[in-house]
Amino acid sequence: MTKTEKALLAKGIRPTKMRLKIYKYLKRKTYAVTLKEMQKVFVIKSEVNKTANKTTFYRAIKLFEEKRMMHQIDDGTAIAKYAVTHENVTAGYGTDLHMHFHCNACKKTICLPNQISKESLPENYVTIDVNLVLKGICEKCKKN
Ligand SMILES: [Zn+2]
Ligand SMILES: [Zn+2]
Repeated sequence: MTKTEKALLAKGIRPTKMRLKIYKYLKRKTYAVTLKEMQKVFVIKSEVNKTANKTTFYRAIKLFEEKRMMHQIDDGTAIAKYAVTHENVTAGYGTDLHMHFHCNACKKTICLPNQISKESLPENYVTIDVNLVLKGICEKCKKN
């Protein structure tokens, strides 16, 4: 069994061909990817039966989100982007408080590694959703 298969099974996801491909693809990416970009890779280019394949693709994304293996990022561009959630994150939103960075030059959005302290929230407040995006110029664009 591969590492990816194991990772999926650990979250209760049956490792089908499509799911493995999507997860591996997104894990390799250093920045968050839109559904359209992923569709180009997994739906449009591949199978003969596009409709069935599209359904499989969307179901896989939804499942990954439900199982917290991927998360959606709203970076203010009005197009939702997806990134793989760090493997150590086991519980739901609020336990993984990390920021995102959106580069105004290359338009890429990345997950920042540092966690935000939960102490910034007053007592008895509960976080349900997190949407933290810093905007600026990324390392690559700053060099150019
Ligand atoms: Zn950039
Ligand atoms: Zn993230």
